[in-house]
Amino acid sequence: MQRVAVIGAGIAGLTVALRRCAAGDRVVLFEAGSNVGGQLQSETRDGFLIEHGAEGFVARSNAVPALAENAGIAGQVIEQLEQRSFRFDGAALVELAPGEAGRLLGFQVPTDELGRGIRSFVRGMAELPERIASLLHGQAEFRMNVEVQRVSPAGSGVLVTDAAGDTSVFSAVVIAAPARSAQALLSSSFGAVALALRDSALLSSLTVSLAFRRESVLHPLNGTGFIVPLPDRLRGLRAVTFSSSKLPHRAPAEHALLRLFFRPSELELEMLSDGAWLERAELALGAVLPLSGPAERGWVSRWPAALPVFDDAHRARVGALSAALVGQRVWLAGAAFHGSGIDAAVRSAESAARAMSQ
Ligand SMILES: Cc1cc2nc3c(=O)[nH]c(=O)nc-3n(C[C@H](O)[C@H](O)[C@H](O)COP(=O)(O)OP(=O)(O)OC[C@H]3O[C@@H](n4cnc5c(N)ncnc54)[C@H](O)[C@@H]3O)c2cc1C
Repeated sequence: MQRVAVIGAGIAGLTVALRRCAAGDRVVLFEAGSNVGGQLQSETRDGFLIEHGAEGFVARSNAVPALAENAGIAGQVIEQLEQRSFRFDGAALVELAPGEAGRLLGFQVPTDELGRGIRSFVRGMAELPERIASLLHGQAEFRMNVEVQRVSPAGSGVLVTDAAGDTSVFSAVVIAAPARSAQALLSSSFGAVALALRDSALLSSLTVSLAFRRESVLHPLNGTGFIVPLPDRLRGLRAVTFSSSKLPHRAPAEHALLRLFFRPSELELEMLSDGAWLERAELALGAVLPLSGPAERGWVSRWPAALPVFDDAHRARVGALSAALVGQRVWLAGAAFHGSGIDAAVRSAESAARAMSQ
């Protein structure tokens, strides 16, 4: 039996914790925030299901359904209701070939895989991490609102120091947090090879979910949504998901829920108020879809510097740091290191959990 620290209670950290508890380890999960799930955050309000982070996992994924099955919620997986997507050509919506929307948005997976769309859960993407967290209750120790500050090898163990200065020694540590956090945690012990992660590019994302009475949107909404190839011409709007057409259980009857995606700079994301983002979103949407009435309500979700860019330089930095960690009983897991998205995060976590047995 090992005493294992998992840093970050996103889907990657929770997956590692589930596997290591099943292997008989004593697991402590450190989470800087007050919720589990990381970038999987779903909110249910008056019959609307708002995804603040990811809306679904790629349908080609085997890892996520297998995890859902282990967690006892395979029956909660839902399929996309619509397949076709559109592009806004400046005047009208034009139907795209399967997979083309993902390619235009720069997703780094093969086009035929993108063409298969996404899957989600009845209660939203947060259903999976929340279910795993409830299974871990009584098995793993959760230290919520505790930000880890440093991870350093110490003799045959690994010392974990939190922001309050409290320290604990573990036989193994998994860092399932963003790359910038890993850089901060490891730079005092691993120097330049950890500090280099500071140079990896990160993109910010902001989404606005708008709820309308169905009759206010004068479009059949007969697709998954549309992308905007030239966002500068449309107030920075890059894509819109027809959430309530794409997946079931996203809005009450007689309503439509649409989600608008922006990719502002970190500064722009922070400077504009929610009210300003809501106004901007509704104006941009109205330039594409005729609207006969205003949005009844809206939700703004902010993700500053949240999306890693998987270029060669980032891969090389992760490779160099991973090599330096060999034999130190410290592993990196999650979407920050091994490919963006939920499927990659889960596969990375499964592989870290397996490596810890060796
Ligand atoms: C708006 C948006 C939409 C997306 N849409 C999709 C999609 O549709 N499909 C898809 O596959 N992916 C999507 N993604 C990406 C996907 O959500 C992520 O790749 C995945 O959830 C990352 O999981 P993770 O566990 O690796 O990391 P995270 O979810 O980032 O979890 C890391 C956790 O570590 C915690 N943490 C950080 N530092 C510390 C510290 N020092 N001490 C303790 N805890 C710490 C954080 O609070 C966080 O909870 C989207 C992301 C965003 C932001």
